[in-house]
Amino acid sequence: MLEGASKEVHAAPFRAHGDEFFLLGWTAAEPTPCLEEIRRRVAGIALSTTGIDAKELRGTVSVGWVKSEDLRDLSVNDLKTAVEYACSEAKVNRNTVVQYVAGMKPSMVEGRGDCAGCRTKFTFHAPVSADRTKGMFCPTSGTIGAPPAI
Ligand SMILES: [Zn+2]
Repeated sequence: MLEGASKEVHAAPFRAHGDEFFLLGWTAAEPTPCLEEIRRRVAGIALSTTGIDAKELRGTVSVGWVKSEDLRDLSVNDLKTAVEYACSEAKVNRNTVVQYVAGMKPSMVEGRGDCAGCRTKFTFHAPVSADRTKGMFCPTSGTIGAPPAI
């Protein structure tokens, strides 16, 4: 898909975690149009399900990217952190492309919950500024649990 999106970008994918990947590459061109094209192509993939609640499923891709020249003299972990921050911002509105800028910090945090009532496990994204001192409720059973550990 990357090759089809642009002949001016050369990159290799590496699995970051879960369903997330890093693309490490180089280009003399502006990367955003190529990344937007990849995002658009993935959004164009439709999978149909069958059965009682048959429906069409479409994918989304939230892309965070960083220019290595913006992070000169920093470690590989610093580079990964910058990409994670940009990706976190891309996920705020979903299906967007966001470039890391110096000083960027995530505006959302990701948490997980385990319901003691029905054993549902779930993840959530909440604004960093949100009041997280109150308990949360299970989206399946409505059981009230402890404040989220983030
Ligand atoms: Zn529950």
